Amino acid sequence: MFFIKSKGTHLPEHRGHKELSQNKPPFIYLKPEDVYIPLIEQGTPCEAKVKVGDRVKVGQVIAERTDRFSIPLHASISGEVVAVTQRMWHASGRMVPCIQIKNDFQETKAETIKPNNVEALSREDIINIVRECGVVGLGGSGFPAYVKYKTKTPIDVIIINAVECEPYITADYVLIKKHLDEMLRGAEYIRRAARANRIVIAIKEYKRELIEKIQLRLTDKMTIYPVKDVYPAGWEKYLVQHITGKTYKGLPAEAGAVVNNSGTAIAVCHAVEDNMPLMEKMVTITGKGIKDPINVYTKVGTKINDIIEAIGGYSDDLEDTYFIAGGPMTGVALKFDTLVVNRCLSSVIVMPKEVRKINPECMGCGKCNEVCPVFLAPIQIKEALASNDIELLKTYKPELCMECGLCSYLCPSRIELTDHVAKAKKKVLGSR
Ligand code: SF4
Ligand code: SF4
Repeated sequence: MFFIKSKGTHLPEHRGHKELSQNKPPFIYLKPEDVYIPLIEQGTPCEAKVKVGDRVKVGQVIAERTDRFSIPLHASISGEVVAVTQRMWHASGRMVPCIQIKNDFQETKAETIKPNNVEALSREDIINIVRECGVVGLGGSGFPAYVKYKTKTPIDVIIINAVECEPYITADYVLIKKHLDEMLRGAEYIRRAARANRIVIAIKEYKRELIEKIQLRLTDKMTIYPVKDVYPAGWEKYLVQHITGKTYKGLPAEAGAVVNNSGTAIAVCHAVEDNMPLMEKMVTITGKGIKDPINVYTKVGTKINDIIEAIGGYSDDLEDTYFIAGGPMTGVALKFDTLVVNRCLSSVIVMPKEVRKINPECMGCGKCNEVCPVFLAPIQIKEALASNDIELLKTYKPELCMECGLCSYLCPSRIELTDHVAKAKKKVLGSR
């Protein structure tokens, strides 16, 4: 296993595009007519616990992921269930069945019992609460958070990933500014749940004002790990290796670490202190195609086209558009704006459609090789894949690709290198 050197690519502000949304207060959109709760989590189907005609309350369990990582899904509004298999576009790029709830605008809450004394909660109590409240990884993974804390492997450090290194996305930044204390308390609950010794907050070094505020609140178990303004500085493997000094193959727990996104820590805090399920979230709605890019605090299950209309709509001179669910480097391109907010959707970027050449040619600039953070040769991998030379392909080690998207993003010929490397990775792993 090799150690990842400090390599990454600085995406200057005009390319990072974070300035479009990061300095505006969030737009609050919490009263949609309907919500559509996707019955799928990380590609795993979930089982509906309600039927058409049922009346549901805010925070009521309405579905459950039923594999070994079971976790409930909650109603984000009160009202009537009008469909349980309504198919809607999802951030995965597919249409998925959803539970549709018609809002009665009463905001009737499901009964909840808040703990009297959070200090007295045991490790098991915190793990159970985080599961019952449906907290999943908000950095895009959607993996049930409690599973990481239950590990039998001894954990030394909790890494709170507040790096948010993809261009355009500023949802975490805006959320942390508003809920900094909750993020730090959430980190402490996670530390207790995983029985870890310490907490490290990883954040971009240029976010000085936030770093200063965190410094004032640090406990003796917390430190800050500032990272450079490069992409992909927030990559889990990179952070773990640099903070622990250890490499790992499968999961960060092998290196004694649990990594959670900053938004996850805030959700854990709300779960532990208020027994509040994960039903609302911050989503960055941005890109050249949006008249007024902004972060939107909204209900899980809200349709993106409703949000776009509420924030002022599309840019006037726009002709054809496409949508990216997630960041521009790792997100999924979609043709329609009727996708719904799922629990781990961080952003939707609206871009004018580019006319792409069919079979664009490599101009041999070498940029893809230069920028790859794990020192791969994407264009050579693409060529070896095209020639179906598996032995040659193996020598290029495509299995190390983290699918960060940087090679495709920076290729002047707009070749979709990431897709080719991902296919090569599958092929090499499948041949073992
Ligand atoms: S970045 Fe694009 S054009 Fe440049 S060498 Fe790589 S594939 Fe070719
Ligand atoms: S997508 Fe893979 S090959 Fe391309 S730059 Fe990222 S790690 Fe390297």
